[in-house]
Amino acid sequence: MQFKTIFEPFRIKMVEPLSVTTEAQRKDFLKQAHYNPFLLKSDQVLIDFLTDSGTSAMSQNQWAGMMAGDESYAGARSWTKFEKVVHELTGMPYILPTHQGRAAERILYSHLGGEGKYFISNTHFDTTRANIEFSGALAYDIPILEAKDFSAHHPFKGNMDVIKLKGLIHELGAANISGVILTVTNNSGGGQPVSMQNAREVSKVCHENKILFILDMCRIAENAYFIHDREKGFEGKTYKEIAQEMCSFADAAIMSAKKDGLVNMGGFLSLRNKELSDACTQLLIITEGYSTYGGLSGRDMEAIAIGLEEVFDPAYLQYRIRSTTYLGEALYKKGVPLIYPIGGHAVYIDAKGFYPNIPVDHYPGQALVCELYTTGGIRCVEVGSVMFGKYDEHGKLIPAPMELVRLAIPRRVYTQSHIDFVIEVFDEVIKAKTSARGLRITHEPHFLRHFTAQFELI
Ligand SMILES: *Cc1c(COP(=O)(O)O)cnc(C)c1O
Repeated sequence: MQFKTIFEPFRIKMVEPLSVTTEAQRKDFLKQAHYNPFLLKSDQVLIDFLTDSGTSAMSQNQWAGMMAGDESYAGARSWTKFEKVVHELTGMPYILPTHQGRAAERILYSHLGGEGKYFISNTHFDTTRANIEFSGALAYDIPILEAKDFSAHHPFKGNMDVIKLKGLIHELGAANISGVILTVTNNSGGGQPVSMQNAREVSKVCHENKILFILDMCRIAENAYFIHDREKGFEGKTYKEIAQEMCSFADAAIMSAKKDGLVNMGGFLSLRNKELSDACTQLLIITEGYSTYGGLSGRDMEAIAIGLEEVFDPAYLQYRIRSTTYLGEALYKKGVPLIYPIGGHAVYIDAKGFYPNIPVDHYPGQALVCELYTTGGIRCVEVGSVMFGKYDEHGKLIPAPMELVRLAIPRRVYTQSHIDFVIEVFDEVIKAKTSARGLRITHEPHFLRHFTAQFELI
């Protein structure tokens, strides 16, 4: 019997108070933050949906594990435990601990990349692309066609286009392609899942062409939930078995443990090939730390080892994905345009569709972000022309292809009533739709402007 009420499969024994503020205060805070929520203080925020990365609540077992963390420089107990859990999950013999996902990316892609090299992915996450391009290599995104259509009902919109993959290999030459990266779930593509069949096919094409197949497995447990739920033949498997099977196709895996590792910091690189591992271990020791701790303290490795087990608990995963879906479906029913079906870790709203009255060069996504904050103290992020927009030679905005707003949901942090509150805030924001105002940028840095840009209301 599946009950309708989604309840948290945990109870609370330590609380972190939220700062309850008034709308007048929030208007003032937002003005002081130049209408950029990245410049707000966390104490000014009620519900923080800025990111699901590193914002998880740890369990009592993880906290207990921290106390038992072994801080020996080499061969620590905590390392043995961490290595065993990661090895069991990925099935790969060489495990390199790093302080977060992008450190693993820097090590692998600086070694494999360089001028004249190419990488292909369903969608490169921004740090992935940045590490690849920084090495001088080029990055191609080839999601399936349905991924670009907000409302296309495809169960695995995170899939890679295998026909395009074959075409690119033919065009660029297999020897020039340093790696094919499958990101599960596809974060930059709306947190959409990748099917087992797609992973199997991509792996087959890579291996026929002797190309390294890399799995970016930040959200592999959430992806396993969707496979169990939607892909034929996986109903009887455990979430962990599904994740293990997906890893079995890959030659290398990268993980930011700040996502499905259920911790606040950490990551790893996992490899099958000894020569590649030797080369990466050298970089690891030069830039992160010795091979049995990398960028992590013993207590961090304990917490990750425990988190990677807890994340596959069916009660947890069901609560996690149903809760994200619940928020998305409720907004969908109210007519809020969004990426559908709802992904694993976040709800992505189409701000251009929500505010047709605000032109793209007045940043409709940023306008919605500001409205959600002033109305309900909800902090989220624009993923549109503020983040990815460029200027032409006359200084005119070249907008991003989509104007999205992402509500990313931290793991085990908010309860169902917090989610209900967010839905209620949307009612007010919908009512005030026609009076919402766009914004103008008054100050911006050269790179990654969304973090520090300043705005004023139009
Ligand atoms: C977060 C993330 C990364 C980078 O990990 P960090 O721990 O933030 O450095 C890489 N790939 C994907 C898909 C991610 O979501």
